[in-house]
Amino acid sequence: VRMAQGVRARARPAAAMSVRAEISYIMVKPDGVQRGLVGEIISRFERKGYKMAALKLYQTPRDVAEEHYKDLSSKPFYKDLVNYIVSGPVVCMVWEGKGVVATARKMIGATNPLASEPGTIRGDFAIEVGRNVIHGSDSPENGEREAALWFKEGLVSWDQTMTPWLKE
Ligand code: ADP
Repeated sequence: VRMAQGVRARARPAAAMSVRAEISYIMVKPDGVQRGLVGEIISRFERKGYKMAALKLYQTPRDVAEEHYKDLSSKPFYKDLVNYIVSGPVVCMVWEGKGVVATARKMIGATNPLASEPGTIRGDFAIEVGRNVIHGSDSPENGEREAALWFKEGLVSWDQTMTPWLKE
């Protein structure tokens, strides 16, 4: 992927359609699954026009949760955060498309749901920072890193027949 992106950065090759676009790792956290918000969340990304590149219901092993949040390991809430992520199944997803990392962050809303705008996922469905329903990668590099961590089996490569209606 990295090589392919390097090629694309220099010149848009004729085969650009087959080069994978930016990806974001998106996860419905255990509270979102328990509350029945999975369909609503998938629907928002589908309707926006992003392409699903991977999807699964998953009982997270503790070491995966620890690795995912390792940058927060010095925070006082780290242990509770890991306990929360492994407390029930999550829905793991990778979404692909132009600007998906930043756009997904906007769709998700601020980390603290009380500060999230109405219309965002956290703004519409959450109250507590420790139960904020959804995760989204914070950079394209982390999108790649997290997709590889959560989908060791790889992503699904497929062509959306509606691509010409969504991309110019
Ligand atoms: P985001 O998920 O918006 O990228 P962070 O990377 O800062 O936010 O934090 C990761 C996750 O850690 C948050 O989504 C939330 O579940 C949890 N978290 C962050 N800050 C707190 C806090 N002060 N207390 C409890 N949990 C927190």
